[in-house]
Amino acid sequence: MDWMEKELEKLERASLERRLHVSAPMADNPGFTLSDGRKLLNLSSNDYLGLSQHSAIIESMRESLLAEGAAGSGASRLVTGNRASYGQLEEALAQWQNSEKALVFANGYMANTGVISALVGRGDVVFNDQFNHASIVDGIILSRAEHARYRHNDMEHLRALLHKHRDKRRKLIVTDAVFSMDGDQARLHELVALKQEYDAMLMVDEAHSGGIYGVHGEGLCHTLGIEHEVDIHMGTFSKAFGLYGAYVSGSSLLIRWLLNKTRPLIYSTALPSSIVTGIAKALELVQTEHWRREQLLGSSRYFRSSLVKAGFKVSEGDSAIVPLIIGDNDTALRFSKALESEGISAVAIRPPTVPDGTARIRFSLSTAHTSKELTDAVSRICSVGLRLGVLGSCNQS
Ligand code: PMP
Repeated sequence: MDWMEKELEKLERASLERRLHVSAPMADNPGFTLSDGRKLLNLSSNDYLGLSQHSAIIESMRESLLAEGAAGSGASRLVTGNRASYGQLEEALAQWQNSEKALVFANGYMANTGVISALVGRGDVVFNDQFNHASIVDGIILSRAEHARYRHNDMEHLRALLHKHRDKRRKLIVTDAVFSMDGDQARLHELVALKQEYDAMLMVDEAHSGGIYGVHGEGLCHTLGIEHEVDIHMGTFSKAFGLYGAYVSGSSLLIRWLLNKTRPLIYSTALPSSIVTGIAKALELVQTEHWRREQLLGSSRYFRSSLVKAGFKVSEGDSAIVPLIIGDNDTALRFSKALESEGISAVAIRPPTVPDGTARIRFSLSTAHTSKELTDAVSRICSVGLRLGVLGSCNQS
């Protein structure tokens, strides 16, 4: 096993080794985290709506656990793991999504890998935006379909690939709605037009847009009014819902197919019912507590404009993900460490998660942050930027 040590040394030298930290939530300060015992402003979490510590969700999970008297589900859903709570949640999800049916998965990674490999196989083709999440890429690899990777949001490139593969048996276009490392949006109207022109299926991953966009948090497809043009909607409960798990929604036909063909659903144990009950409570809150979305979108605009005013280059938009592109891995890592010493947790994202030369700090915002916390954060980010030479001068009003 010596090879491992050599490979790990290489990773360490390239500032690419990954390490674990122990993080704990802080009940009195939901915008903060205790990281290895230190209190840090949490600009690294995907708990966008601040629901992970919501007392109603925690209480519903506690009650469900005690009422059921079982910690685990004991088997996959198709064996004896399918509690009544699953059906109730799936009905509520279908109503929320205005779709015929929905299906709950253990997590987003399993939903993406399982669904893609259930939809396509040898002789088929998947058109994949180069910035799509790793779980989508892994689903394509598992499926054995041909992988047609198009340049990020480049519709002309996608069109050329669709044309090249026009005679393939099944064609699937798949995209993140909001890209996880850049926070920008897919060109969904154009994707719908192309899928219609080339008779392809369209799958949209709303992991970073579900709960945030749409009048009731349904996601970006609903905001754009194209929900009925998308064949396969997928979203997670691990981000804006503050919990764990995922769903797919669409036609009855799709859900019936997935129930029969999705291997992570068939061959893996069902989520415990207490989690499913907690998700149902989170879904109610996502639909009704509109102020959480409004506050998050306001924070996102404020944080971006403050960084831009200070002299940083930050992309426009209102998503909760705000990347600060640094470039080289070592500077990104030093930036993240310096922020930590300033009391901020903001991870350095490096290759292979992002392309070479685009290492970045990925800030993610939450309803749990106050505007004062964000203002303080921007001034500390500025001083780190100046110290590391990422910023020439800092304009702050
Ligand atoms: N899709 C996207 C776009 C994601 O960002 C993630 C998680 N980072 C997933 C899927 C996987 O979801 P989960 O964490 O629930 O496995």
